[in-house]
Amino acid sequence: MKELIDQQRTFFNSNRTKNTDFRIEQLQRLKKLLLDNQNRLNEAIYADFKKSPFETFTNEFGLVFLDIDEACKKLKRWSKRKRVRTNWVNFPAKSYIIPEPLGVSLVIGAWNYPYQLSFAPAIAAIAAGNTVILKPSELPSHTSRIMAELINQQFDASFFHVVEGGISETTELLEQRFDKIFFTGSPNVGRIVYQAAAKHLTPVTLELGGKSPAIFTEDADLKMGIKRLIWAKFLNSGQTCIAPDYILVPKSLKEQFLAQAKEEIIQAKYAVENGNYIQIINDRNVQRLKKLIDPGKVYFGGQINEAERIIEPTVLHNVTFDDPVMQEEIFGPLLPVLVYNSLDEAVTAIKNREKPLSCYIFTKDSGLKSKLLNELSFGGGAVNEAVMHISNSRLPFGGVGESGTGSYHGEAGFRAFSHYKSVLEKANWLETKLKYSPYSEGKLKWIKRLMGIK
Ligand code: NAD
Repeated sequence: MKELIDQQRTFFNSNRTKNTDFRIEQLQRLKKLLLDNQNRLNEAIYADFKKSPFETFTNEFGLVFLDIDEACKKLKRWSKRKRVRTNWVNFPAKSYIIPEPLGVSLVIGAWNYPYQLSFAPAIAAIAAGNTVILKPSELPSHTSRIMAELINQQFDASFFHVVEGGISETTELLEQRFDKIFFTGSPNVGRIVYQAAAKHLTPVTLELGGKSPAIFTEDADLKMGIKRLIWAKFLNSGQTCIAPDYILVPKSLKEQFLAQAKEEIIQAKYAVENGNYIQIINDRNVQRLKKLIDPGKVYFGGQINEAERIIEPTVLHNVTFDDPVMQEEIFGPLLPVLVYNSLDEAVTAIKNREKPLSCYIFTKDSGLKSKLLNELSFGGGAVNEAVMHISNSRLPFGGVGESGTGSYHGEAGFRAFSHYKSVLEKANWLETKLKYSPYSEGKLKWIKRLMGIK
């Protein structure tokens, strides 16, 4: 590992990546590589958890290609030095900010969208002029292997390299000194990464998870809202960091909500054969999710095919905040529905928990919308929609508090892998005596007067 990082640092110090044309070339090369190997990449992810080519394109490569295209189009602009006004204290001078790459970066991916969560940060790193060591999640082993095979054949290890492995390899990587660590995964492992980074004072972006709520207000467009909510929840069989984890509905709407949610699930015809449903990633997670299903609280679904690692879309009702399903991030196809008596009660319940990665507000009332947006803290989210905010690269994507630190996508991704170097450039044709010794009462008076202090 050390040798690889030294090799990357030497390459970075050669200044090749400072050239924006070099970065664009590398990103285009990556796009071509992924396009040329679509069939093999699709086969690998299907072997891992039966993700269909439709979902693989829309939720993984579609976003990756959009990111590459946007970076290629805009990275020259993002890289430009920016002039800012100079204050009178420094007259006569120019002031400007130069974005510069951080250096050797480490990207650690999660398993649930293995291609997107590996390549999107890597694209941001390359666009900003860094070298990249990518460590994809080991759980989807076929996708990890094909990413390593394709990238390591196509790119020089001193610039972009995939290291495969689990805890021990990641631990070894984390012992090394990087200039940036970008981690996607659980808050618990996020803490380990943060601690390892602190040893070298390495800046981090932590894209973590948590329990993301969806709230319906009394006046919400129930039919439209539930349609969007059900799609967002059962996408990737609920194994989505920004999936609505649990739902809060007013008591008066409970029965109507449950019936409509069931109807939407039936209409979606979720099944592996339809290409719209996938396996749970491994047996351990099947068992974990099984324990979260209280048979007495199943409103719809609840069937598990353990051999196939398939869990039916399941709606749970009469759920309270004390139930096991409310004690951890679900990360699977279980939808607990909780009722509230007053909106303030719902707001307090959310505020009493860790700050979520996402929050979804379903309402037609602009006053209630403003109240919820103002009072609740969350990474990002949507009004009358769920999950789709991730697809707008102009919206920085990331968490807050327990759900993460930092953000990326679009220019935010470029910023995550850049340092903004501030420079004051002074002219030589004028100098005042004010700041120089010997100090005097008179000079101090002048300084105070210039600052507007009596
Ligand atoms: P995880 O934390 O178990 O693993 C993430 C990565 O860390 C993997 O590459 C893994 O090999 C590595 N890792 C695991 N244990 C480690 C250890 N002890 N030391 C060092 N490295 C270790 O997470 P996961 O199961 O892959 O993903 C699920 C979690 O990720 C959920 O909490 C989900 O919400 C979150 N997530 C967040 C986002 C986001 O963009 N914010 C996206 C996807 C998933």
